[in-house]
Amino acid sequence: MTLALDQLTDDQREIVDLVRRFVDERIIPIASEYEHRDAFPDEIVEGLKELGIFGFTIPEEYGGLGLDLTTYALAVCELSRGWMSVSGIINTHFIAADMLMRDGTDEQRQRFLPRMATGELRCAFSMTEPECGSDVQAIRSTAVRDGDDYVVNGQKMWVTNGLRAGMVTTLVKTDPAATPAHRGMSCLLIEKEPGVDKQGGLTIPPQLQKLGYKGVETTELVFADHRVPARNLLGGEEGHGFRHMMSGIEVGRVNVAARGVGVAQRAFDIAIRYAQEREAFGRPIAKHQAIQFKLAEMGTKIEAARLLMLSAARKKDAGERSDVEAGMAKLFATEICNEVVEDALRIHGGYGYSKEYEIERLYRDAPLLLIGEGTSEIQKLIIARGLLQRNAL
Ligand SMILES: Cc1cc2nc3c(=O)[nH]c(=O)nc-3n(C[C@H](O)[C@H](O)[C@H](O)COP(=O)(O)OP(=O)(O)OC[C@H]3O[C@@H](n4cnc5c(N)ncnc54)[C@H](O)[C@@H]3O)c2cc1C
Repeated sequence: MTLALDQLTDDQREIVDLVRRFVDERIIPIASEYEHRDAFPDEIVEGLKELGIFGFTIPEEYGGLGLDLTTYALAVCELSRGWMSVSGIINTHFIAADMLMRDGTDEQRQRFLPRMATGELRCAFSMTEPECGSDVQAIRSTAVRDGDDYVVNGQKMWVTNGLRAGMVTTLVKTDPAATPAHRGMSCLLIEKEPGVDKQGGLTIPPQLQKLGYKGVETTELVFADHRVPARNLLGGEEGHGFRHMMSGIEVGRVNVAARGVGVAQRAFDIAIRYAQEREAFGRPIAKHQAIQFKLAEMGTKIEAARLLMLSAARKKDAGERSDVEAGMAKLFATEICNEVVEDALRIHGGYGYSKEYEIERLYRDAPLLLIGEGTSEIQKLIIARGLLQRNAL
């Protein structure tokens, strides 16, 4: 038990223990084999449904568990310790649920949340386009009102869960002439048949081939006069989509920080074991001071990242503004994750480069965390803006 985890409530500890057991028994033993085949882990998803993880943060009145962000983040740490792609399956779903709970109409909450809580309906989140990711206001996809529908045209890029999701929260321009551009943006809840690559005016090309983060699919979405019922405009009013997406991504950042902690923790766990088993120059490499220094730095970084992640989540749970804290947690946890994973690979020597050792998967997974939910450079801009606001002369 680390220092940071010492301060959990009994309920939080019980839930984390439950998820940890699930990860140890049902994810870790099969993760690398599935990852190397790029195979979707259906049975893990069924297990997540049984655990209620798809409804973790959804209020009990909609059939969820009504847990807070802190407990959710701790569960994400555990899942990512097992296999980062599993946390990817629930991350966009969690963001979509958060957006509906905060910004959806009563009718939209009633219609979507109960099915989302059970995992019967799984969701994706789509802002990025081929020409823009960080610069969200540069999106080009449009939705034009036509009777009771919106007609959507454009192309979305890098949509995690893009094929298997039954609903995609999608950022579009409903008023392309608006200045500033964000005032003309809206979020549509685009329903679709999971697993079907052509329906109406929506085409989903074959999934993108990635360095890591395999198993969970990431796709493009191509819209050509695709009709979406107007009642699926999030919140029922045009022009608020940018704010809706940004709020969703803020909690998503705590989630990505949690992934960083989980992946780094796994890298540390396997490295400290290997260091005591592997011998060089007549003794375990853990007895060499150079390896000890690495282990000391790795452990310290993980503990610091966990505390930052918990602090951001607790602030959010307390209803306080936490954009700076979520940015700090995301930036630090993902940067140290990459450092820790690289050190763990070095500790494994040549075997770290072998596909037979788990560390090679962690080494390929970790860089995504520097990019998704806003790159490290964008986090620094957000943190600096927030700090300057808070410390304005
Ligand atoms: C595997 C994977 C899954 C993803 N899943 C999703 C998803 O589910 N939904 C979704 O909407 N998106 C998703 N994304 C997209 C992801 O959020 C974007 O890739 C990310 O926001 C960066 O955008 P970009 O790739 O267009 O890079 P760019 O914005 O083109 O940035 C390129 C480089 O320039 C830097 N840069 C850009 N602007 C500035 C600036 N103002 N100051 C300093 N540096 C700057 C960036 O930090 C980066 O280093 C996914 C991406 C990947 C790789």
